[in-house]
Amino acid sequence: MAAVHLPSTFGSSEELTWMAEAACRGRTSLFFPPRAERPQARERREALARVVCRACDVLGPCRELARSNHEYGFWGGESEEERHLAGYTVAAPIGIRARMPFGANG
Ligand code: SF4
Repeated sequence: MAAVHLPSTFGSSEELTWMAEAACRGRTSLFFPPRAERPQARERREALARVVCRACDVLGPCRELARSNHEYGFWGGESEEERHLAGYTVAAPIGIRARMPFGANG
């Protein structure tokens, strides 16, 4: 999740109090891809992000927020591809077309 600007559609500040406990605070570059990131670099970056998420106390609400808002980036222990496979596709996923077999993109 990292430090991002949240639109008002995310809910009230009371509903988002869990963000204060986010283990990824200050590590934005680990959770969102740089421009033109290569697939191998993305895999390495997301593997490191996944380790942070596994130790995070607020993984559940973070994952739920990312799924329900079809977020970009790595949230709640899930990549965009994993959210896609769970039925929560982002509008224009960055890594899915490059990594999924032809015809498996839904
Ligand atoms: S689950 Fe991961 S992305 Fe979500 S707040 Fe925790 S560390 Fe950040």
